[in-house]
Amino acid sequence: MTFNLALTPDQVKNAVEAIKMNKPVYAEILDFYGRIFEAQEMSKGRIQIQPLQISPEMRTVKAREKFSLIEIKEFLFDDIEAGKLFFFICNLAKEANPQLAADAETILQAADNVIKPGELFSGLLNGEDTLYQKIAGELEIADTTLGFISYNSLKPSLSVCADQLSSYLNEEEPWLKGYCPICGSPPVLSILKDGGDRSLICSFCWHPWSVKRVFCPFCENRDGQTLHYFYNEDEKEFRVDLCDNCKKYLKALDSRETERTIYPPLEQISSLHLDYKAKERGYESGFQPR
Ligand SMILES: [Zn+2]
Ligand SMILES: [Zn+2]
Repeated sequence: MTFNLALTPDQVKNAVEAIKMNKPVYAEILDFYGRIFEAQEMSKGRIQIQPLQISPEMRTVKAREKFSLIEIKEFLFDDIEAGKLFFFICNLAKEANPQLAADAETILQAADNVIKPGELFSGLLNGEDTLYQKIAGELEIADTTLGFISYNSLKPSLSVCADQLSSYLNEEEPWLKGYCPICGSPPVLSILKDGGDRSLICSFCWHPWSVKRVFCPFCENRDGQTLHYFYNEDEKEFRVDLCDNCKKYLKALDSRETERTIYPPLEQISSLHLDYKAKERGYESGFQPR
């Protein structure tokens, strides 16, 4: 299956249903995430953001020095669309597991009073963890819930911004680094494509970029002796790449081994059992889960 990042909300919905049939153990969690993914893809089509401008001189310097095009704090977002998603996800979460449901209810009650979604979005982009801890402490909710809802509300804006910025990347100058050429974040997933080409997917803006096959993105290790992987006979499309140099792992999806439509955020969520297995073996995730 060739993978294409631009899927319609209906294609995303079908991809979610296909995995629910295939992996019934994920049915409940995908009922929740599937609706978030669909809403995010619908929102993406409505987003209005002025493209960020990068001067030719700046672009040349960044390409030469291998600096990402922007820093996370420079991402722009559509506050109306992000705000709508914020309330949509809170309402959806009220039907999720009891802890999440209780937190979502509290957040909804505090919205526009203690909580101002726009401040949460800017706070997330500016790495203001203390803002999240402060609000979560005041409301007696988990700061991770607040982070999860805020990040997922911003995600369509991040993708649109990354798509716009990708016009500044030169395909003839492959990036080949272990961090995202757009925003500098580590990868969430590795995807093998026809011909064995390997792409990494950014854990923050979900932009894909090409890298060498034998390469640890977290420490740039290229020594085949200390890079290995494990996989499961029942799901040959997945493997988990392990690096003995930095003890980090990255899940990899071989798109040639499956016929299904590939939507990276869905593949990430529906393979959490592989994260547990990698951790059991003593390896750590190379990115911060959101
Ligand atoms: Zn990125
Ligand atoms: Zn490594």
